[in-house]
Amino acid sequence: MDEIYDLDFTKEQHYSYKEKIPALEMIQNSISINRGCFGGCTFCALTLHQGKIVQSRSKGSVVKEVQKLTNKNSFKGIISDLGGPTANMYKLSCKDIEKQKICIRTSCLYPNICKNLNTDHSEQIELLEAVSKINGVRRVFIASGVRYDLALCDKKYLKKLISDHVSGQLKVAPEHNDEEVLALMGKPSFKTFLEFRELFYQISKSVNKEQYIVPYFISAFPGTTSSKMKVLETWLRKENWKLQQVQNFIPLPMTLASAMYWSELDYKTKQHLYVPKTQEDRKEQRNRLQSHRDYKNKKDVK
Ligand code: SF4
Repeated sequence: MDEIYDLDFTKEQHYSYKEKIPALEMIQNSISINRGCFGGCTFCALTLHQGKIVQSRSKGSVVKEVQKLTNKNSFKGIISDLGGPTANMYKLSCKDIEKQKICIRTSCLYPNICKNLNTDHSEQIELLEAVSKINGVRRVFIASGVRYDLALCDKKYLKKLISDHVSGQLKVAPEHNDEEVLALMGKPSFKTFLEFRELFYQISKSVNKEQYIVPYFISAFPGTTSSKMKVLETWLRKENWKLQQVQNFIPLPMTLASAMYWSELDYKTKQHLYVPKTQEDRKEQRNRLQSHRDYKNKKDVK
């Protein structure tokens, strides 16, 4: 990874584009530090093309890229993201290489955090500190998603992240509040999310910062009945959470979720699963995630 990132990228849009590319602004001042993911969420294809073993750049390589960035006129001192597919998997891996070679678990985090997994985020803290100290850098943010069950294993990292590296909003992905659906997704219990949320607001308050969690939820996932969505809708209303971005499940090739979508079977028990497939069902479920929106949405839900 270091060799690739050492190449002389300009971080500019190609001159053949006359119009401004909005996405460029977001990525121009962000730095990729790792690839791959050992989370193994059943709906996600990332592990299938980047691998379950996380590859991380060296601290020196990241620092060199940031130093180069500070020489650009367009750079205003803000690193918008120091991240990757999952921001807090940098330098984390299996402690036992022999076990890793023969491991058949699709996730190091689900159904529980494997005891062989190194969950010490010290090297991430060191990297954040090293980048923050570079001349010309005023703030370093983490905008990539954070795996909160993993972050909860290292309270020192959690404190550092929440105190110094949130740009006002932190993206996390509880995905649903129904334990059966979460199990089908390969995600941790909703209680873990609530524990994280509490700590997030506690730490934010202790450092006098008004900052928020941006939660991601998925509707129409295999196994999600209308009544499960109603429970989630009620919870969102109770919390006064008005979601701006939501995801209506789309099966991705090669994923377990796709297999469940197609077969309508629970991948563990082989029991029949309800799968919302019709346009009406999918729309109804999606709208429940944003029932605070316009009248049309409400009518659709009805
Ligand atoms: S043994 Fe545990 S930590 Fe190692 S690869 Fe397997 S699941 Fe991950």
